[in-house]
Amino acid sequence: AAKGAGRNRFSYFTPALQVAAQNRMRLTNDLRGALKGGQLELYYQPIVHLRSGRIHKAEALIRWNHPQRGLVSPLEFIPLAEASGLIIDIGEWVFQQSLQWAKRWRREHHPEFQVSINQSPLEFQREDGGYQGWQSQLRAHGLAGQSLVVEITEGLLLDANSAVTDKLLQLRDAGIQVALDDFGTGYSSLSYLKKFDIDYLKIDRSFTRNLAPESSDMALSDAIIVMAHKLGLRVIAEGGETEQQRALLAGAGCDYGQGYLFARPMPAEQFDALLKAQPAAD
Ligand code: C2E
Ligand code: MG
Ligand code: MG
Ligand code: MG
Repeated sequence: AAKGAGRNRFSYFTPALQVAAQNRMRLTNDLRGALKGGQLELYYQPIVHLRSGRIHKAEALIRWNHPQRGLVSPLEFIPLAEASGLIIDIGEWVFQQSLQWAKRWRREHHPEFQVSINQSPLEFQREDGGYQGWQSQLRAHGLAGQSLVVEITEGLLLDANSAVTDKLLQLRDAGIQVALDDFGTGYSSLSYLKKFDIDYLKIDRSFTRNLAPESSDMALSDAIIVMAHKLGLRVIAEGGETEQQRALLAGAGCDYGQGYLFARPMPAEQFDALLKAQPAAD
C-alpha cells in the first residue's frame, strides 16, 4: 500500500513540463498519420481589394481535424511539424492544394487571382528541393508564378543567411510573389526592406484590432502604408473585424483587407461558391 501511495504521489507530482512534453509527443505521432488519413484540410480566407470591395486573393490556412481532440490550431501543430520534419510533406501538400485551386479561380474568376501560402522559417530554409520543383509544377499546369504568394515573417529577413537569400532569389526566378506576414511585431529594424524584393506587407492584427481615429494604432498604420507605398509595396491589413476599421484603412490608402469583417477562413468549395456569388466585375 505504501508503495502504491508512493507511486501515486509520484504521478501526482509529475512536473507539468513532463506532461506537456508527453502531450507534444502524442500529438506529433498523431500528426504523422493525419496527412494520409485525410485529417488535414486547407481553408481559404478572402483578401479583399478595399477600393472595389472585390475578392482578389485568398490566404490558405491549414486545419487539422483530430479524430479525438477536434480542431487543433495551426499555432499548436505547426511547431510540432517543424520540430519533427513533417512540415516538409505538409508544405508540399499545401502547395499542391493551393495550385489546384489557384488554377481554377484564375480560370473561372479572375486571371490575376492569387493564393497566398504560409511558410514557417524552417520550412523556408530547408535545403532540399525548394522552389525549382514548384516552378516546374507551375509550368506543367500552365500557371504563372504570380498565381502564388509565399508569406514569410520578418524574423527570417533580419538575420538572413545565404539559405534565405537563395530562397528569395528562387522565388523571384519562379515569378512567385512574397508577402511579409505579421508586419510590425517584434522587430524595429526596417533596413531589410530595402535589401530584399518584397511585394506585400501584411500589417499585423495587433495594429488593426483597436483601430480608431486619432489613435496611436492609426498613426502607425498610416505610417506603414505611406512607407510601403513609397517603397513600391502593396499593403494588406490583417484582422479587420468592423466596418469602422475597414473605412479607416481604406481612407488611409490601404490596398487590401483580410478579416472576419469580410469572411472567416472557409473550406475551398465554400470559397468557390463565394466567388461565384460575386457580381461580375466591370
Ligand atoms: P497568419 O498567417 O498570420 O494567418 C492569419 C491568422 O489570423 C489566421 O489564423 C486567421 O484565421 C486569423 N484571422 C484572420 N482574420 C481575423 C480576424 O478578423 N480576427 C481574428 N481574431 N483572427 C483573424 P489561423 O488560421 O489560426 O492560423 C494561425 C497561424 O498558423 C497563421 O498566421 C500562420 O502563421 C500559421 N499557418 C496557418 N496555415 C499554415 C500553413 O499551411 N503552413 C504554415 N507553415 N503555417 C501556417
Ligand atoms: Mg499568413
Ligand atoms: Mg499574418
Ligand atoms: Mg499572424
